[in-house]
Amino acid sequence: MNHFTPELLAPAGNLDKLKTAILYGADAVYCAGQDYGLRAAADNFTQEELAVGVQFAHERGSKVYVVLNGFLHDEDLAGLPKFIQFLDSIKVDAVIVSDPGVALLVKEHSTIPLHVSTQASVLNLHGVKAWSELGATRVVLGREVTVHDAGTLQRTSGIEMEMFVHGAMCMAYSGHCVISNFTQGRDSNRGGCAHSCRFSYDIKFEDGQRESSFFMSSKDLEGLSVLPRFVQEGIVSLKVEGRMKSELYAATTTRVYRQALDFWKNHGSWENAPWMKWQEEMRKLPHRDETTASLIAPAGSDSIYDEREHVDQSWAMAGVILAASSERGVMIECRHTFDQTSQLEVLTFKGDVIELPVREMCAPDFTSIEKTKPSSLIRFPWIEGLAAGQVIRLKKVRS
Ligand code: SF4
Repeated sequence: MNHFTPELLAPAGNLDKLKTAILYGADAVYCAGQDYGLRAAADNFTQEELAVGVQFAHERGSKVYVVLNGFLHDEDLAGLPKFIQFLDSIKVDAVIVSDPGVALLVKEHSTIPLHVSTQASVLNLHGVKAWSELGATRVVLGREVTVHDAGTLQRTSGIEMEMFVHGAMCMAYSGHCVISNFTQGRDSNRGGCAHSCRFSYDIKFEDGQRESSFFMSSKDLEGLSVLPRFVQEGIVSLKVEGRMKSELYAATTTRVYRQALDFWKNHGSWENAPWMKWQEEMRKLPHRDETTASLIAPAGSDSIYDEREHVDQSWAMAGVILAASSERGVMIECRHTFDQTSQLEVLTFKGDVIELPVREMCAPDFTSIEKTKPSSLIRFPWIEGLAAGQVIRLKKVRS
């Protein structure tokens, strides 16, 4: 018997990451075109790539949501109607907006379902109703709302709720940060965030004392341990942050959350769920310290670093499998240097990770190879369970 299971919504900073997230089991991905989003530093998609991405997703039963969530001035809007019509023509499954003006343009120029971005800071029933009257079918709640309150909002309003479950956090109130504007001249509400909150600042106290501190740098959101609450409250969609992060991040987060949600779907219970194993997998990603932020109760000072943040980076992306078959073996595109003493693990689409026998690697022409270079191709013998699109990670050796 299948039990209600939230949608797993993964970040897609470019076409490769979109494909990776979908191959690892994302129900939906969110991505951006070249303009109108909030991650100008991400690769983002050309129109051609968007069309390819939507087709790739739809062929595998997944959805694509396109972000149009910048706060736009009149001069930013000139090309928007045409872009909206293009998105409609390739059948994107929703657009994500935060500006009511953009929402009106979407309604005027398309039939694309409208989702409200977390940038709109919707926190209450009246806010949900106001956006519903503008035609929204889903609200990505402000990160300040608890899972319990989100469940109540969803039941009371009848509108779908989406919540962030994992990834980097803004210490600012959702969508209302201008630190980057004032310190770097980069508008975070139009895609230019310079992550100024991660810097150290000098604080001068009234008594003249000074202190340097990272007092605005938030720990990362960890919602894996909160999954039972999301499920219990019936939250429709769980969103992983991180369009600017690597394919290793897209593969690992999607794989682990997919396994956890499938566990629930198949068992209808969390009894004997392998939480430790899932958490260990997540910790193989570069990560800061973790917080559940406001998922359970409003976030407090324990969500912020009081000294330099610590980022654990013990594993890195080693490469991706381009082709795998029992007849021709396994061809890998390297993304990192490694040699015959390295430890490599393949993140399979289903089941456990598979360790690669590095001593058996060779060049495409079967000549021996001691050490790889990024972008080079290498060959491994066939191992059951390997497939094209799988991501390989490398244990970094501490020097
Ligand atoms: S500077 Fe920090 S708090 Fe402000 S928008 Fe960027 S990430 Fe968020």
